[in-house]
Amino acid sequence: MAEVADNPGGMKTQSIAPALPLNPAPLTVRERYWSYTRPLIVKFSAGALLILVLAAAGLFSAREYTNYQDWTVHTYQVRERIVMVLNDLRLAEMQARSYGLAGRDESAIAYYRAIADTEHEIDVIDELTVDDPVQVANVARLRALVAARRKLYETIISDYRERGPAVAHNDVLALIDQPNHPIRDLTDAMRAEQTHLLARRQARRDRSAVYVGIIAASATLLVLALMLWAFFTITSEHRQRLRTERNLEQGAWELQSALSDARQLAETLRRISGLGEMLQSCREPDEAIAVIERALPPLLPEMSGCLALINPSHNLVEPRTQWGTRGADLAEGVFAPDDCWALRRSQAHPSFGEITAPSCPHLVYAGVTAGHMLCLPLSAQGQMLGVLSLVAERAFDAHLRELLQTVSDQLALALANLRLQQSLREQSIRDPLTGLFNRRYLEASLPRELARAERRKSGLALLMLDLDHFKQYNDSHGHDAGDALLSQFGAMLNQLCRGEDIPCRYGGEEFTVVLTDIDARHAHERAEAIRRATTQIELRHRGQRLPAPSVSIGIAIYPDDGSTPEELKRVADQALYRAKREGRDRVIVHAVA
Ligand code: GH3
Ligand code: MG
Ligand code: MG
Repeated sequence: MAEVADNPGGMKTQSIAPALPLNPAPLTVRERYWSYTRPLIVKFSAGALLILVLAAAGLFSAREYTNYQDWTVHTYQVRERIVMVLNDLRLAEMQARSYGLAGRDESAIAYYRAIADTEHEIDVIDELTVDDPVQVANVARLRALVAARRKLYETIISDYRERGPAVAHNDVLALIDQPNHPIRDLTDAMRAEQTHLLARRQARRDRSAVYVGIIAASATLLVLALMLWAFFTITSEHRQRLRTERNLEQGAWELQSALSDARQLAETLRRISGLGEMLQSCREPDEAIAVIERALPPLLPEMSGCLALINPSHNLVEPRTQWGTRGADLAEGVFAPDDCWALRRSQAHPSFGEITAPSCPHLVYAGVTAGHMLCLPLSAQGQMLGVLSLVAERAFDAHLRELLQTVSDQLALALANLRLQQSLREQSIRDPLTGLFNRRYLEASLPRELARAERRKSGLALLMLDLDHFKQYNDSHGHDAGDALLSQFGAMLNQLCRGEDIPCRYGGEEFTVVLTDIDARHAHERAEAIRRATTQIELRHRGQRLPAPSVSIGIAIYPDDGSTPEELKRVADQALYRAKREGRDRVIVHAVA
């Protein structure tokens, strides 16, 4: 869908960005089931149909086999009957002959039984071969031949009974001359026909048996193939399911780990941001170092580290804070900026992927040679401030490096800001020529010192100093010489003051010193020391040795001479004027005067 967005002019514009293709809606469980099951059903049905066809063919072939087997047995039966016809006929002939020769009734009875059996066998053969026209004709012929033969046999019997044994004897002899070949030939032909039929039927039966075998084997193979296919389908489906499950588990694990990483990253970034905020609120670099000292160990717990800063002279790098088991080694001692590759190259050392990069000499000197090392230069606002050196058991990957870079950037920025602030603050409260505090600083700090003295119930001295005949000094030796004197006087004053004193250039050649926690006597002693030191200033200007200056000093003491800055300044001024009046190069303590 194209996006329609309001523009500031109220006109509607159509987004030219092409609509993102939507993923198709996921299939329902039913749809998934059928998309998977339908091809299976088709394949199973085809297999089942094939098995059914094979079973039908097998059944048909088995029936064929049984059928031809029956016919084979039938053929054997016919052949057997033919043989029996011949045997019975021979027996009948033998009995008829026996009767014609001996006239025994047993022979006649046996004859009739044998001839009846013969005809019965012919009837059976007739029944068995009713479907075979050739044999039917043969049976008819056989029947006629047997009937003719029977007629001869029974002539013997009737002649014996009616005409006497001699006639019967002649009949028997005549019968020997009547050959039995036609019947034997016919039965041979009939048996040959049956043998031929037998061979054909056996061949068909054997063929049916082969068909049955082939079909049974095919069906077995098919069933086996179906079973194998089903087995492989099921196992491959199972494997697929296992793979899907594993992929799902892997995905879930990756998601969980990504989530955990993201949470950890968010927590780390929150801490870094918290550290940044804290550092921004710091007033002094030392305060920032204290904050860093507390913040870095929990932020980077898996490594040891050391933060070292370049000194104001830029010739040494001094460890300021360290953490971790090897932090003490890292902070072993000061080193030259050139001993750190990160400071030399103004980039992280070693860089990502720089496997063969040499170790920083300062780490080697400190004996830190095992583990993974990383030095990050702290640079901001165009100045190099120091270096963050880290040692860890595991390698610094790109992700971790990015994080550490953010930390070092934060530190560098905060430290640079603090240095800048300090320098601006210094500039705003210091007089550039003498290096002493300026008048503004005095105005700001004198009320504070008075309040403190009041709180502590201690004394305070305000010294007003004025160089004697400075105008003359300027006029005689030049303005530059005057400046040089002012500068040297400032340095001397700075040197003679304690840390808690406030030496200021009040203006021109006039100076003020606030001495805290002091009484009049000691203030006088300190002022005397300043006065003496002034007279010992040795100044050379343009190759010329200039005369030593002198200074007049007026002192007001809190609380004796006043309790406000104005009162004290006024009293100190009066004391100074008195010192000038009384001949200069002296100290006057108003309270004492
Ligand atoms: P006195 O002993 O009475 O204090 O005499 P003085 O000459 O020191 O006093 P005055 O106030 O007459 O002269 C002060 C001179 O200091 C005037 C001015 O030219 C000079 N001066 C003020 N500021 C500077 C400065 O920054 N550099 C130089 N070279 N001279 C300065
Ligand atoms: Mg003056
Ligand atoms: Mg003067």
